[in-house]
Amino acid sequence: MTALWLTVLLAFHTVRVPSIQIQGQPYVAPPKLAQAFGWKSSSSQVYQTPNGAVAFQEDQVKVQGKPIVVRSALHQGKRYYHAEDLETVLDRVTGKRVYWDRERSRYILSRYPPSIKSVKISGNKEGIQVEIQHNADLHPTVQSLESQAVRVEIDRGFYKGGHRIPAEGVLSGGEIYHTAKGFRMILRFDQPVEFEVRRQKTRFRVTFRPVPVASKKSSPQSPQPKWEKSQDRTLVIVIDPGHGGKDPGAIGRYGTREKTINLAVAKRLKRILEKDLHARVILTRDRDKFVPLRERAEIANRAGADLFISLHCNYERRRRAQGAETYFLSAARTKWERAVQNLENGALKYELGPELDTTDLLKFILSDMAQAQFLKESQSLAVSIQDHLATALKLKNRGVKQAGFYVLLGAYMPSVLVEMGFISHPSEEKRLRQGWYQEKIAKGIAKGIEAFLRNRDRAWVPTLGG
Ligand SMILES: [Zn+2]
Repeated sequence: MTALWLTVLLAFHTVRVPSIQIQGQPYVAPPKLAQAFGWKSSSSQVYQTPNGAVAFQEDQVKVQGKPIVVRSALHQGKRYYHAEDLETVLDRVTGKRVYWDRERSRYILSRYPPSIKSVKISGNKEGIQVEIQHNADLHPTVQSLESQAVRVEIDRGFYKGGHRIPAEGVLSGGEIYHTAKGFRMILRFDQPVEFEVRRQKTRFRVTFRPVPVASKKSSPQSPQPKWEKSQDRTLVIVIDPGHGGKDPGAIGRYGTREKTINLAVAKRLKRILEKDLHARVILTRDRDKFVPLRERAEIANRAGADLFISLHCNYERRRRAQGAETYFLSAARTKWERAVQNLENGALKYELGPELDTTDLLKFILSDMAQAQFLKESQSLAVSIQDHLATALKLKNRGVKQAGFYVLLGAYMPSVLVEMGFISHPSEEKRLRQGWYQEKIAKGIAKGIEAFLRNRDRAWVPTLGG
């Protein structure tokens, strides 16, 4: 497993190159570039690389004699080259996919094909349509900037293609670049626009239309869109009933097994979400069966799930604590969070043997995690579920907590782990066994999910013309 994660981390590496800004664009000097990549200078402006000679000329760079057009500019008597135009040069020299990171003044070198396949922009004065084909685990978003501009963000998205977007219709231009987080596209319009988003598993389409001036003044406030309307595909939610099969989870005083309660609530939650949210709901297990932790997040990734909810029951040795708490993935901060983390990661002993200490491994993975982008959303999902659950159960709200749960690692979507109650507390154990109480829990969680979706969608409403 360590080897697997190392492979993932080694798939990317970075090379820092000092850069300067010329008219808001990043430029680098050939000597600095050569130094960073370890090329030898054979004569002025010509460098020897393991893959042949690179010769810098005024508006082009020749790699093994083949010219590539590159913008350049003079600054204090020295010639600088556009850092992003040089990506093509570096692709050839390194044999990797190379992306300039505007935030950190470095090149990101990837062994993978770009995660964004195409970016198409078309339209006229009536409107502009942008269509992006991408890998299923990416989640593009659109944000309105000031002064008639928007930014499309695709974290972990990498794109090989032009950086400059020409004017077209209401579009007055734009650009594509990368940051430490991934793909960014700025679009500038010659008048205020509103936009509409359609997303499918691997296709993202956004249509920009000029805001009608008359209706802008007459409508005091446009109605809040329901989250259902902004998506033209079905919402997919994966519910993960914790433990199962040879792994019983925690066991109560009266012999109740956590795995049984988790599954019972999961089935109820599935039914409610299908009925109330018209969601497609997938269970990581629908019977008493062992499913490795890694596979649970994989099921969600494969399904292109929007949300991942792992259900568990808590355990405390003194048998006094009761109530629900909801976790999102992060480093455990308190002793209690760490205890719950160890309890839930305990299932790993069925996969890896009893002596593995997962704490350091988790820390290592968390420090460099692609999932960081879902952190904010996971946290708000956790808050929403916890609030609604506490209200539904009329128990002391134990609050939202954070810990490094192995089951949530590698899930590329907002994901939380709900500890529905304490199986160690004798009267809570009894309640957890009963259908009416399981239904209450399921309803509370469903309400929390619905509220989260509604709020998230509200944040997407464009501010232009509003
Ligand atoms: Zn558990």
